[in-house]
Amino acid sequence: MPSYDFRSPRLFVEARLAEGAAVAVSPAQANYLLAVMRLAEGASVLAFNGGDGEWRCELAQPAKKKAELIPREQLRPQTPVPDLHYLFAPLKHARLDYMVQKAVEMGAGVLQPVMTQHVQASRLNVERMRANAVEAAEQCGILSIPGCREPVKFDALMASWDGSRRIVFCDEREDAESPIETLRDLPRGPLALFIGPEGGFSPQERERLRACDFVTPISLGPRILRADTAAVAALAVLQAAVGDWRSG
Ligand code: SAH
Repeated sequence: MPSYDFRSPRLFVEARLAEGAAVAVSPAQANYLLAVMRLAEGASVLAFNGGDGEWRCELAQPAKKKAELIPREQLRPQTPVPDLHYLFAPLKHARLDYMVQKAVEMGAGVLQPVMTQHVQASRLNVERMRANAVEAAEQCGILSIPGCREPVKFDALMASWDGSRRIVFCDEREDAESPIETLRDLPRGPLALFIGPEGGFSPQERERLRACDFVTPISLGPRILRADTAAVAALAVLQAAVGDWRSG
């Protein structure tokens, strides 16, 4: 685990981060630093923006409710966004917020909502999804915000899919067997993970997915998991088997 400062608050900022160049923070971030965390001037705050790595900054308070961050030292260089695409059928509010945060913590680099036949939520607020992704990124120590994409329809996704990226398809009807072996046998290359809605994939969707040579169905065991449980379980086995939980 990289040895970094877990104690200082950590914020995502849109502005460039360069030594000594003051960065104004949003009113909500100023309130968090000054009123919630009750930090004094000079306190250490970590900042990242997805391009300049992570910087230790000093808190400045140019006015009563205003806060600025003065970058002092780059603690970690920028690293690329993880290459794992997370495809999911949107859930309803709180469960969707949870699922988005878990996908970010578990290493998804792109969040792609897919409108399937049995999807529960008829639309998805991308700004809300991004706000959840930012909050999760600040908490889990990553240096970029995963790509938050507009929802696409299942048929459009499949029609335009680039087959060089394999889809690991969590199929609740797959015979229960360990997904670890299946994943370990995957050819190396870019991956996507696909989790269906609470109502599951339709027979037509399942048939279409299983007919594609770039799709690998996996089981997540002998029980039917709720979609947000399946998200964490699937990302865990994938990262452990072929992802960034392995060393080297
Ligand atoms: N069809 C089920 C619910 C599906 S669960 C029902 O209505 O009771 C939501 C999604 O989680 C599924 O589409 C699948 O992608 C994933 N999932 C849940 N349990 C799974 C399992 N045991 N194996 C593989 N995928 C699973």
